[in-house]
Amino acid sequence: MARDRSPKCKQCRREGMKLFLKGERCLTEKCAIERRSYPPGEHGRGRIKQSEYLLQLREKQKARRYYGLLEKQFRTYYTKATKGSGITGENLLRMLETRLDNVVYRLGFAASRAQARQLVRHGHFHVNGRRVNIPSYQVKPDDIITVSEGSSAQQVIRDATDLTASVAPWLQADHDGLTGKILKWPERSEIDTPVQESLIVELYSK
Ligand code: SF4
Repeated sequence: MARDRSPKCKQCRREGMKLFLKGERCLTEKCAIERRSYPPGEHGRGRIKQSEYLLQLREKQKARRYYGLLEKQFRTYYTKATKGSGITGENLLRMLETRLDNVVYRLGFAASRAQARQLVRHGHFHVNGRRVNIPSYQVKPDDIITVSEGSSAQQVIRDATDLTASVAPWLQADHDGLTGKILKWPERSEIDTPVQESLIVELYSK
């Protein structure tokens, strides 16, 4: 499956904030944002002329990179979000949050979304007792996520849980039993993604 292969720390520096794309390293002083918090490139430290379009573009890029998606995939989510009832921006975030790879990360079973995606792709997780190896699989309330029996990644997954202090309120995790449950659809206030989704909607609806 296609994915964004550009250097992860550069992505954070471009967006001017930690996007937590590299797992444990993001929590240490080796984090590039801690050492060079200006944008990458020759003109990184120069003044950038702000415009409404630039603000909207940066917000969209930030969200896309946060969830590790390519432009085409991200726009498909936006199109689906416009068709749902309710607020488009919130629909968009809810769909992104309930991707299986994001849920595995949010449950603390992976140190980053990239690792979660790889673990899912390699078949280390079951949803309601059935193996699911599609990172974009949409989970729903009452779904149960378990680590595949005899999975060779159990130690990696346990190591990731050690980095996790708490899980999102719409999820329930049992780090000893390596299981998780979706309690409900996430509310906007329960999604800590650092984006203003209204700017993304403004950008795409031009
Ligand atoms: Fe971003 Fe993590 Fe790199 Fe820091 S270490 S810049 S948070 S990917």
